[in-house]
Amino acid sequence: MNHCIQMIPLYSGSSGNAAFVQFEGTRFLVDVGCTAKSIVSALEQVGQNPFSIDAILITHDHSDHIKGLDVFVRKYGIHIYATEHTWRGIHAWQTKPHPEELDHVILPGVTFSVSHVDILPFSTPHDAAGSVGFRFFCDGRSISVATDLGHFSEEVKNAVVGSEAIMIEANYDRDMLWNGSYPWPLKKRVDGEWGHLCNLDCADAVIYLYQNGTKHFVLAHLSQENNSPMTAEKEIVRAMEGQSAIRGEHYFLTVANRYCPSEAVVLRMVSEETVIYGDTVITETMVETGDLQ
Ligand SMILES: [Zn+2]
Ligand SMILES: [Zn+2]
Repeated sequence: MNHCIQMIPLYSGSSGNAAFVQFEGTRFLVDVGCTAKSIVSALEQVGQNPFSIDAILITHDHSDHIKGLDVFVRKYGIHIYATEHTWRGIHAWQTKPHPEELDHVILPGVTFSVSHVDILPFSTPHDAAGSVGFRFFCDGRSISVATDLGHFSEEVKNAVVGSEAIMIEANYDRDMLWNGSYPWPLKKRVDGEWGHLCNLDCADAVIYLYQNGTKHFVLAHLSQENNSPMTAEKEIVRAMEGQSAIRGEHYFLTVANRYCPSEAVVLRMVSEETVIYGDTVITETMVETGDLQ
């Protein structure tokens, strides 16, 4: 039996976040932070039908994570999972509410299931009450999504350690932030313990996770003004060189695009131990025919 896992960032950054995650036939959206129309367009680009999404998981109630939620859900009727605090934020924010029977309340630290996939929501240090990340488990495999992290806390560390793949925040370069044009209070917020994760702290997290078995890293939620894909990548690659870890050989690293779907991380158990990594957006057909690199 082939076990195929896919993780595809659809949009990433303060302009809007959404990621597609699939474990065999069970499909998730993590966050719906762009217009419903753009989410549908991104799903189509990666060969997915919005009606086939089994569940939507929301990390927190900042608009770059929930912007298109109500419209999308009213149209496609998908069940939504969020913490109680996040629900309060969503309900306060929405103008035309979706049907409440689609709402599910989850608790940080308490695993819940959707079909054959178990999901562990874990608390994230961020300035949104009830903010969480998610770790997915299925048939002994696991991947994690952890963005909007003021720091790589013990709780986050313990929740995601051992994941095969992780989408992790690399929001800003500290020099670019402090030398940049953001107003001082905003600089303090971003750089604070409840703001976002800088490249350097992300690199430390990547090293720790790599030392504990993680091989696939997707850098996400990059700041447009205070970071660049090249700056973030360089920081991580340099830190990993200190571990004698070579990109593309010992570990895989990609950066999530801001405005369009990114490369898919595809993990597949072909035999005992073969993991395949795709370097293009992989459609379902390609997965089924094994047309992967
Ligand atoms: Zn946020
Ligand atoms: Zn955010």
